[in-house]
Amino acid sequence: MDALKLLSRSTGLKTKISKPSPQNVPSASGHIPSENGSDSTVGRKRKRDSKDSDDGDSSVTLSHLLTEEEVRQFQKKHKIKIVDLKLFRAASKSTDSRKSQKEQSRIFPQPLTSFGQLGQQYNINSALAGNIAQQAYFEPTEVQAATLPLLLKPLLEEGQQEPDLLTIAPTGSGKTLAFLIPLIEKTSRAHRQRRDQAEKHVSSIILAPTKELVSQIVNEGRKLCSKTGVSITAMRKGMELWEGHAVEAESQSDVDEDVEHNSDLEKDHNPSRLVKADILVSTPLSLVHALCPAWEEDQTKPPNPLPHIETLILDEADVLLDPLFRAQTLAVWAACTSPSLQISLWSATIGSSIEELAISTIYQRQKRLKIPRSQRPQLLRTIIGLKDTSLPSISHRLTYTATESGKLLGMRQLLHPTRATSSSKGDADAAPPPRTPFLVFTQTIARAQSLYDELQYDIPAPAGGSSRIAVLHSSLPDHVRSSIMQKFREGKIWVLITTDLLSRGVDFRGVNVVVNYDIPTTVAGYVHRAGRTGRAGRRGGVCVSFYTKEDIQYVKGIANVIAASEKAQASSANRHENGDSAAASLPAGGIQPWLLHALPDVSKTAKKDLKLHGVQSRRAIHADDDEKTRRMKRKARIGTQSGYEKREVNRKRAAVQASLSRRTAPQERDTGAEWGGFD
Ligand code: ADP
Ligand code: MG
Repeated sequence: MDALKLLSRSTGLKTKISKPSPQNVPSASGHIPSENGSDSTVGRKRKRDSKDSDDGDSSVTLSHLLTEEEVRQFQKKHKIKIVDLKLFRAASKSTDSRKSQKEQSRIFPQPLTSFGQLGQQYNINSALAGNIAQQAYFEPTEVQAATLPLLLKPLLEEGQQEPDLLTIAPTGSGKTLAFLIPLIEKTSRAHRQRRDQAEKHVSSIILAPTKELVSQIVNEGRKLCSKTGVSITAMRKGMELWEGHAVEAESQSDVDEDVEHNSDLEKDHNPSRLVKADILVSTPLSLVHALCPAWEEDQTKPPNPLPHIETLILDEADVLLDPLFRAQTLAVWAACTSPSLQISLWSATIGSSIEELAISTIYQRQKRLKIPRSQRPQLLRTIIGLKDTSLPSISHRLTYTATESGKLLGMRQLLHPTRATSSSKGDADAAPPPRTPFLVFTQTIARAQSLYDELQYDIPAPAGGSSRIAVLHSSLPDHVRSSIMQKFREGKIWVLITTDLLSRGVDFRGVNVVVNYDIPTTVAGYVHRAGRTGRAGRRGGVCVSFYTKEDIQYVKGIANVIAASEKAQASSANRHENGDSAAASLPAGGIQPWLLHALPDVSKTAKKDLKLHGVQSRRAIHADDDEKTRRMKRKARIGTQSGYEKREVNRKRAAVQASLSRRTAPQERDTGAEWGGFD
């Protein structure tokens, strides 16, 4: 295929998602099937009611309650599991079997089967309901169907408290909306109750690991908050959390970057810079600097309390509680001293150790604040689909390149597919060549930069040349980061090279290909990187991972995720009686069973080392590295020539020189010009 043609093609980025077709929506995509879809398990009543919604009036929807059996069927069909963790603990005393412990603690609350119910049954703020409708969201996704009722129902009754909640749901399945809708509704109700108090203050905090994600949550939130009287803002340096307090101010451009200007934000920019918004979104570090001014010197000092915070949301909770961010996140959590604080944790991957940490932090906090058992809220866990698996709508390619230079070749083949490489077997069903936009992940900032330097002229000038490719990492100034994000979203940048900075949460609807130029350092890392494509049920996303000799020892975990995802894909394709053309056309060539058997198991120590430091040969060269390690690291550098090739060239050059000098000065033979390394 002509590279120019390929690269000039539209990115297909759309501002709104079109209504998904019924075959396209269930578990695989994360959407609840439309009422007239193939959902026969919930009985005829639903079909009868669906006639009304088919007429286009989304407010006329199911008003009856499903029986417990119907709810069970619904949860089974959509792979929803809701467990009461207190019942789970209690059950452990009465039974030894973990399975029956789980069964005994499962609960079956009413799901949300249409957004119309939000107004009808949960009586939410009409402006909020209007904003949801305006976003062209037709049906709730599974995570929304499961969790919105859990968080909204208690708001209807005086004295009821929402449960503390752990939610594990696939990447791109709509978790942001699932936590924002109840939060905005709760805040709007609180406004109504204390109409006399004109003064606004922050009552909720959302933590997210990166500035990019913070900015995205704020933008999503703003769309939903419009005309509700509720406001949301991002934490910036220079903002005051309470009267008389300010975090060291930055330049104005830094303060305002990447946040859409609207009236809410203008209000935040009052001269005293006191945050007047209701909902504050922040990275843990920005907030902890505000709460504990001497944080860097002494992390044990108790943070300034935030007694008015009623809701704390941890988005990408497993990262926030990972050692990297743990101290900061726990400091913010500890600062929230309200006895009625409600906490929820959201991610596609929450491992058992992080879950334990979260639960014990919740219990310890309740003990510390001496909250009587009778007044403690429920503690629930919702899991959608299988834990730690990638979306079944994404296809995966695990490509062995042997060496680092093989990766560069592989990358160029992705950018400029030829007929031979895209359909090597001459197979009519072979997958079409991958289309831009590409999101490319490397292990380190230095490698992202080197790959960018290598590839920046790979896109032909008539197609936009080097303006179509960019690199984004945390060493760049904030305004550059946000400008690159903006251009990538707009489809002006086609290939974005980055680090794990963008692996979590960020929603680029149009990404067609995720490339793991360097393998991710954890299985969860793979799930999240791959999840930058296939968002909101989009099909056709591909995740390509290159691996070399050095990586073989780490690849099994990734291969297992891919195998599980392909299995889920096959079973979902089987479920569609008439055949799902998108699923059927997915490229073959995923994980072969022999590969799974051949790959070595990873030891716990190796896994830990990989997670903490990445693959050794790709780490930066340190002063105390021995010569062997240095050589290995130099060899792994990204460049047109691999270390090996460079060494070969140098060796030949040295040989030629040696032979020349032998001829011209035979007396120097033994001291001859020795090869001096490849740099
Ligand atoms: P997650 O946090 O689960 O990874 P996001 O909340 O970022 O996913 O949502 C992914 C995409 O899905 C976003 O573009 C969002 O606008 C879209 N989305 C969310 N809910 C719905 C819905 N009910 N119908 C269609 N699209 C949705
Ligand atoms: Mg998210």
